Amino acid sequence: MDVSHILDNLNDAQRQAVAAPTGNMLVVAGAGSGKTRVLVHRIAWLIEAEGVSPHSLLAVTFTNKAAQEMRHRIEELLKISVRPLWVGTFHGIAHRLLRMHWREAGLPQNFQILDADDQLRLVKRVMRSMDIDEQKWPARQAVWFINGQKDEGRRAKQVPASDDLFQITHKRIYESYETLCQQSGLVDFAELLLKSHELWLEQPEMLAHYQKRFQHMLVDEFQDTNTIQYAWLKVLAGTSSRITAVGDDDQSIYGWRGAKIENIHRFSDDFAPVELVRLEQNYRSTATILKAANALIANNADRFGKELWTDGPPGDPIRVYAGYNDLDEARFITDRSAEWIDGGGSPDDVAVLYRSNAQSRVLEEALLRAQIPYRIYGGLRFFERAEIKNALCYMRLLIDRNSDTAFERIVNTPTRGIGDKTVEVIRQQARARELSMWQSCKDALAEGSLSKRVATKVAEFLTLIDELDAACAELSLHELADHVIEASGLLDFHSRERGERGLARKENLEELVSACRQFTGDLVFPIPAEPEAESQSVLEQFLDQVALDSGDRQAESGPCVQLMTLHSAKGLEYPLVFLAGMEEGLFPHKMSAQEPGRIEEERRLCYVGMTRAMRELYITHAETRRLHGTDNYNRPSRFLQEIPRDLIHEVRMKGAVERPYGGTGLPSGMAEESANGLRMGQRVMHAKFGEGVVVQCEGDGERARIQVNFSDVGAKWLMMGYANLDILD
Ligand code: ATP
Ligand code: MG
Repeated sequence: MDVSHILDNLNDAQRQAVAAPTGNMLVVAGAGSGKTRVLVHRIAWLIEAEGVSPHSLLAVTFTNKAAQEMRHRIEELLKISVRPLWVGTFHGIAHRLLRMHWREAGLPQNFQILDADDQLRLVKRVMRSMDIDEQKWPARQAVWFINGQKDEGRRAKQVPASDDLFQITHKRIYESYETLCQQSGLVDFAELLLKSHELWLEQPEMLAHYQKRFQHMLVDEFQDTNTIQYAWLKVLAGTSSRITAVGDDDQSIYGWRGAKIENIHRFSDDFAPVELVRLEQNYRSTATILKAANALIANNADRFGKELWTDGPPGDPIRVYAGYNDLDEARFITDRSAEWIDGGGSPDDVAVLYRSNAQSRVLEEALLRAQIPYRIYGGLRFFERAEIKNALCYMRLLIDRNSDTAFERIVNTPTRGIGDKTVEVIRQQARARELSMWQSCKDALAEGSLSKRVATKVAEFLTLIDELDAACAELSLHELADHVIEASGLLDFHSRERGERGLARKENLEELVSACRQFTGDLVFPIPAEPEAESQSVLEQFLDQVALDSGDRQAESGPCVQLMTLHSAKGLEYPLVFLAGMEEGLFPHKMSAQEPGRIEEERRLCYVGMTRAMRELYITHAETRRLHGTDNYNRPSRFLQEIPRDLIHEVRMKGAVERPYGGTGLPSGMAEESANGLRMGQRVMHAKFGEGVVVQCEGDGERARIQVNFSDVGAKWLMMGYANLDILD
């Protein structure tokens, strides 16, 4: 068989890696150098040239989306379907194993996955039952502690004893939480890996089976594996599997979540002999973008050190835009995106990246107003919206009446006169008798322990769920979803909310029906169903998928501008990229400012962001920004100063002239006197910034802005309409 086509379109170093004799391999290389491409081609090579069965391959990616993409690319190369190939995230693969081996793992067959939101609520409930003061011990911190311990492979009882009150308290919370999860068959994200790692250790026969099966394992984004993932991989590899790991130390951005960059170093020792491959040519970005990214990351001390080069064109300079405020910044991004699309570009080509999720709302509103289709990748996800979660909880209760999480959420949604007090009574009784809340309701009704009025309401609710269940038995998934949102009263309830909000909620619920249709039409779960897994109903599979999937499956279809946090942009590439909110305090994030190590991680994050851009990169910041209800006046990010000036152009509003960043003097062609009657050089007084001198004006009418050089706070752009300046001269 001719296998040479698998080596086409690869450079020498890549070709060598793809066709290397089967042994352990570590590819450490910079962004856009073809690491993921090498991984894909290596899988194809193993199958076609080495005759390895797809059945004995395991590939680990960072997102479900990347897994789909990988499968697709392998099939394209080989022109055959590779269904038996396991490709997925660590979490996805661990989940599949637990579904298949729930008995051995000591889980109920219908165990439920807790997403971050469910987990937080459960921890809160645990803390309340332990009488722990949430003011003193925030629940989020407890969640953080629990997940951190699990990521290190520790059960509650393995958390070291200590006389530190912080440790003692959190250990106790972890213990109670663990017990509750075990009793109720609940599995959080970190638990998926911890549990399946225990499965390896406690079931030697099963481990031997999988060790024999997976002859080759390939891991992308290796720099971001954490302790438990590394241990999981090492145990599974045993002595006979071959591992190919690819990664980039400069793109390690999950240290705050327990990722261990040292795993790259450990790998060479633990899996010796290891062939080390380096790739140095970048195929993604223009020379300018690459130069800027290289210069930025050179400010980090702790790195392997590598220079990327490209023989591509220099491309445009990096454009920097200083918005007057966050709305102005969003407007700029929207205008520029619209230009791109009007010029024949696809919305799919455009990505807007930001440091924190809270930044998305303003951007979303600007895009909505401009009627530019967009989607949010990760973060504020479709499946986390209240109305969607409500609908999902109804669906959950259909297959599992004992799910208290689902029960609590919808027992009085839409409102049906079952108040908090009643719910508390039911909860208490359930706890006392070690029953689910559903069961506890049934008992209460049988015993007549509820007041007549409340009993009627509760009975109606139970009947509603049973009736829905019966009615749905013969329906396909999307018909079921449709029926549930109607008959539960949810559609009506949410549509009644006033204005845009109600409309949006109604549309979201309708989108859920489309999402269900799409799910059955194209089963996206990257791992093919094994016989055991097929015993799961489509509804169960769907609910699991929703919980697992970190939001990369969105309801919006068709070409869209992509909005996402820098963290979720890893591995992706776009012709046009905006990095928004490039301000001190926001990026680098103020939480990182104190610790030097954290600043380096922020800088790597910036490097990741910049290297997503293929052709054009825009960096924007705002002089004032309203976040979480307060106005912030932030200086431009230090990362901006770390990019060589000759690679940057500062963008002015339409009608004004571009000039090199950091230049002084008036843009050419600017009138001495602006349309608003303010002279250059005019001395002015501002209520907050004090005294200053007007140095530039641009635009006119409502959007006119002036730049004032204040003696105390330096130069600032102000919106004429809002500046309220007093003229001094
Ligand atoms: P990241 O670090 O961001 O994950 P990466 O190292 O995984 O990047 P890839 O995504 O595999 O890089 O490749 C970057 C881009 O360069 C892709 O569009 C890929 O198709 C292209 N590319 C890689 N190698 C070559 C090559 N030899 N010839 C042409 N294009 C290539
Ligand atoms: Mg990659």
